[in-house]
Amino acid sequence: MKEINSAGARIDIATPKRTKDIIGKHGFSFKKSLGQNFLIDMNILNKIVDAAELDETMGALEIGPGIGALTERLAQTAAEVTAVEIDTRLIPILEEVLAPYPNVGVVHGDVLKVDLKQIFEERFSKVSKVSVVANLPYYVTTPILMKLLEERLPLQNIVVMIQKEVADRMAARPGGKDYGSLSVAVQYYCEPELVCTVPHTVFIPQPNVESAVIKLKVRDTPPVQVADEAHFFQVVQASFAQRRKTIANNLKARFFNEGGREALEAALQEAGIEPQRRGETLSIAEFARLSDVLLAAGRV
Ligand code: SAM
Repeated sequence: MKEINSAGARIDIATPKRTKDIIGKHGFSFKKSLGQNFLIDMNILNKIVDAAELDETMGALEIGPGIGALTERLAQTAAEVTAVEIDTRLIPILEEVLAPYPNVGVVHGDVLKVDLKQIFEERFSKVSKVSVVANLPYYVTTPILMKLLEERLPLQNIVVMIQKEVADRMAARPGGKDYGSLSVAVQYYCEPELVCTVPHTVFIPQPNVESAVIKLKVRDTPPVQVADEAHFFQVVQASFAQRRKTIANNLKARFFNEGGREALEAALQEAGIEPQRRGETLSIAEFARLSDVLLAAGRV
């Protein structure tokens, strides 16, 4: 049952006392290897939930509910909530603390392995839109986000707490040290926006890296048209393979082992890109043009 204090008010999970009570009662110990840093600050939780712009017609998918601090707030805000948790020890705790919320379903599994399309069909068929809202386990942030985006799930937006350094890379514009293949991949699918940076003190235990909340507004269509998406991402990867090398040298190593310099220079000229530029200066539109030119020239 939901905890009620002596004055009859409900007690949120995301407070230091309630969190300590729940983990103490169940004898729970944190596993660093699963990225377990639980939120104990309602202000940050509210910022995350507000950024997701949920309403009572929408669904929320949470990854890694922990002991349910964020899940509880999502249940109070959205029509349907599904939370995927890998740690078996947390399942009975979640069942107990979330018992007052019939609109919450907990799936026990590894989010990288579960069938998200099936979850969407089973859990979100009646909602208007779905957002992903999570305090992600930092050790698998990028694989989780790339799975969500590459599967092209019908998402409105993704609002997640992640390592600040990763958030900076996702939101980076061309020309700086943070801009790389992750920036291009994320911005191909979404419009990123940094919501806030987050102090260590809002977690138990405290992580030893800086954190930030990022909002990824999922695009209806990519900002550029490419002939072959997989090839486009290969060109992006190759262009950042060795950051200090020029675009010409990086592309040569991956696409021009045979046929050499002249063909490479012709391709770059056709794409309107100076050979001495570095990958970090190219916009998404330039990567798209480059990919189409290389593909047409049979460089795959
Ligand atoms: N949402 C809770 C909160 O904010 O207090 C907990 C967040 S904690 C940073 C990350 C959660 O993700 C933990 O509960 C952890 O067990 C879970 N987790 C780690 N790897 C996972 C995976 N591959 N699939 C699903 N859950 C995972």
